[in-house]
Amino acid sequence: MIHTIYGTTRYAEAGKTNFHDMRESELPSAPTTVPLHRSLVQELHSWKTRDLTAIFNETRSQFSNTLNQLAETGLDLHDTTSLENLSEVFKDFRELETQQIVQQRSVNDAKMRYRTKSDELPAVTWENWDAYKAGDIRAPSIAEVFAEVQKEHHASPVDLPSDTLARLFRALPHIFADPTCILPDDRADDDLQIEGGQIELTCPITCMQFKRPMISRKCGHVFDYDGIKQYLGDQPSKDCPQSGCIQKISIRDLVRDELMELRCKVAATRNKAVKASTPLHTV
Ligand SMILES: [Zn+2]
Repeated sequence: MIHTIYGTTRYAEAGKTNFHDMRESELPSAPTTVPLHRSLVQELHSWKTRDLTAIFNETRSQFSNTLNQLAETGLDLHDTTSLENLSEVFKDFRELETQQIVQQRSVNDAKMRYRTKSDELPAVTWENWDAYKAGDIRAPSIAEVFAEVQKEHHASPVDLPSDTLARLFRALPHIFADPTCILPDDRADDDLQIEGGQIELTCPITCMQFKRPMISRKCGHVFDYDGIKQYLGDQPSKDCPQSGCIQKISIRDLVRDELMELRCKVAATRNKAVKASTPLHTV
């Protein structure tokens, strides 16, 4: 039995050692698709798109810092250009993030699909050479599998989940105009801390302006960290102190409320601006 698939062996066996004498039609034509060699398959399955999570996270925190700086210092109430520019850059960044996700999914899906399609294929031998050549046994081609997967992904683009940063970007133009405004995102949600059509910038426990606002993931109510710590005392959880709220609250349910932080910063900057522009004799 001849195990090698090289044409030279076949012709050598047949006693035709002089290749120059052969007409082109006599050259052995290869099947269009054959299974990948084992080492190539291994290589294929070890392919990974570069993990950019760390870079993306770093960029996100830089965006967040810039937003805060904008709220604290660079806030010109009549000039929204810097915010608009930043929003544009953020849009590009999200686009990049989306592409990365699509790429990662494509590679993973293509690898899986290639595996399913090629797992049962016999290795190429002289016995099945003709079957491969005639297409009776058909090995998937990597290029085809990739093209197929990419076409599918193209048809169903990813929707990035809405994240805090995207929400902040949507919120900021409204907050710049009025730090206590109810955001369009939240208008449908009547369970929030809304009094007289505006958001309170003071903690309902300490009755002071928020210093370190924390939001409950369960009910969306916001409290200052010190206030809620004091309220909970040594209890693991208690009823939410917001009147009318039926949820329990514990430190574990609370996360930093970046939106409220921004509101407070914008409000503080506006107050400073108002004070600075007030004529001295009215003070
Ligand atoms: Zn609550």
